[in-house]
Amino acid sequence: MDTPRPPEARFPCLPVEGPVPSPPPGWTWEGLMAEALAEARRAGRAGEVPVGAVVADPLGRIVGRGRNAPVADGDPTAHAEVKAIRAACARLGNYRLDGCVLAVTLEPCTMCAGAILHARLAGIVYGCEDRLAGAVASRADVLDQGLAGRLAWHMGGVLARDCAGLLEAFFAARRG
Ligand SMILES: [Zn+2]
Repeated sequence: MDTPRPPEARFPCLPVEGPVPSPPPGWTWEGLMAEALAEARRAGRAGEVPVGAVVADPLGRIVGRGRNAPVADGDPTAHAEVKAIRAACARLGNYRLDGCVLAVTLEPCTMCAGAILHARLAGIVYGCEDRLAGAVASRADVLDQGLAGRLAWHMGGVLARDCAGLLEAFFAARRG
C-alpha cells in the first residue's frame, strides 16, 4: 500500500482521471512514459534535474526525445519538452507537430506549455505535478486556455510515483 504523500509535497502524485485518451498505436501511456523516464534518468546522471520527454507521431513512432539540460547547455530554455519538440520538428522537417503527443515526467512549466501549444501538439501526458512551476494544472491552466482557439488535451498521473521519486531523490541528494 502506498502511504499518502503529504499535501505540501512539491511533486504531488494525483491519480489518472478519465476519460483516458487513446495512446498512439503500439503503445500504452505507461510504456510511453517509461521512455520519458529513461530520458529523465539520463538527465539525472548528468547532474541535471531529472526530467525527460518524448514525442510520438500519429503512427506511434517516437520522433523526438529530450532531457533537461539547462546547466550543460547554458540555456534556461533547455527543458525536456522544448528539446523533444525541437528534435521532433527537425526529424519531421516541420515546425508543426499536428496529431503528435508528448509524454513528460513532470507537469510542464509556462514556457513549455506555451511551446506545446505553438507546436500544435494534440495533447500531452505527464507524470507528477509541480506545485512550484506547473502551468497545466497546479499554478495555471495554459493548455486549457489555448492559443488562438487551439487547445491541447492533458492527462497527469501516469507513472507519477516513479517520476516524483526521481526528482525527490535528486533534490534530497543535493540537500545532502
Ligand atoms: Zn519547462
